[in-house]
Amino acid sequence: TWSAVPAGPPDPILGVTEAFKADKDPRKINLGVGAYRDEQGKPYILPSVKKAEELVRAANPDKEYLPITGLPEFTKNAALLAYGADSQPIKQGTVAVTQSISGTGALRIGGAFLARHYPHAKAIYLPSPTWGNHIPLFRDSGLEVRHYKYFNKETVGLDFEGLKADLKAAQEHSIVLLHACAHNPTGIDPTPEQWREISDIVKEKKLFPFFDMAYQGFASGSTTKDAFAVRHFVSEGHQIALAQSFAKNMGLYGERVGAFSLTTADPEEKARVDSQLKIVIRPMYSNPPIHGARIANAILSSSELYGQWETEVKGMADRIISMREKLYNMLQKDLSTPGEWGHIKSQIGMFSFTGLTPPQTKALAEKAHVYMTADGRISMAGLNSGNIEYFAQSVDKAVRG
Ligand code: PMP
Repeated sequence: TWSAVPAGPPDPILGVTEAFKADKDPRKINLGVGAYRDEQGKPYILPSVKKAEELVRAANPDKEYLPITGLPEFTKNAALLAYGADSQPIKQGTVAVTQSISGTGALRIGGAFLARHYPHAKAIYLPSPTWGNHIPLFRDSGLEVRHYKYFNKETVGLDFEGLKADLKAAQEHSIVLLHACAHNPTGIDPTPEQWREISDIVKEKKLFPFFDMAYQGFASGSTTKDAFAVRHFVSEGHQIALAQSFAKNMGLYGERVGAFSLTTADPEEKARVDSQLKIVIRPMYSNPPIHGARIANAILSSSELYGQWETEVKGMADRIISMREKLYNMLQKDLSTPGEWGHIKSQIGMFSFTGLTPPQTKALAEKAHVYMTADGRISMAGLNSGNIEYFAQSVDKAVRG
């Protein structure tokens, strides 16, 4: 039956982990995976999450099905976290929100909803480059995928002129995907001033903004600061779509906790949108998992746990920032590695787009047992005081050939 099914290529990101696992050298480092690691290189369960989980267990809750759109207290609090208590749509009760299977599921619900109900051309513009999964995800949702310029190879920075030109040239009413903060894979975000300009262009061209916020709090250490773009667009009167993930900022990766929301014109429109979100979700997976949403909600609904969580998110962000500082100093100052390495310090979030070429990344894997994606993206969270020196020396050797 399946004789005509061709073998597909391995996943470009998860394939890196496979190669890492097969390597037996004790010095090996995995910088491919987008998951936080502590100073010992170990997965990290946030103490606030542990406490929240204990609270959930102590309440001895049942395991009944959630409603199609998930745990209502959780989705309410997730929207509050993203939009802020002062936002008009929150105050007016016009945010249509549903729980989702983490950020990926939120994006997919959004893609499917837009494919079915968006009343204009169903083209979505993605930044180039973008998180690899965005492309098949939106294509499989039934949208036409297009691209806008984002990265300038020469400066290893934002190609802001290219971005503006491409959005200005985009077909009116197209959908535009924006990484809310900590752009993956480049680690380069627009400044607040640049976000204001982007908002103006989006308004002028009547584009529909779809925010992917997978790293709220993880970029700067402040959930408020990282929500700037989303909140600015909303305060400018844009209607938006928003995908949220609690994988990184709560370390709930495998629990699959997320939310998808749309801001609507009024409560009556919201009710209609809510009803159609249910119709999109029900035949996909019926209803979402319960445990992670309870944990996230225990944190978001308790001022004490919330405060602790914010401190812990900042702790993760700060450790990554200190690794950036160290790596920059080693490459630029101690080793005088050929090239300019300032971008390692200026980029934010989990990843750094190092500028290392595919042959250099190949050499790093084969000779130094250091693994990263072929585009030269490294997860900064995979570095710690125990391995950063070996990493810097290996990069130095690879660059010198
Ligand atoms: N969007 C971006 C930009 C991401 O980097 C990720 C995680 N790598 C996601 C969405 C979705 O992740 P998850 O489904 O685990 O929440």
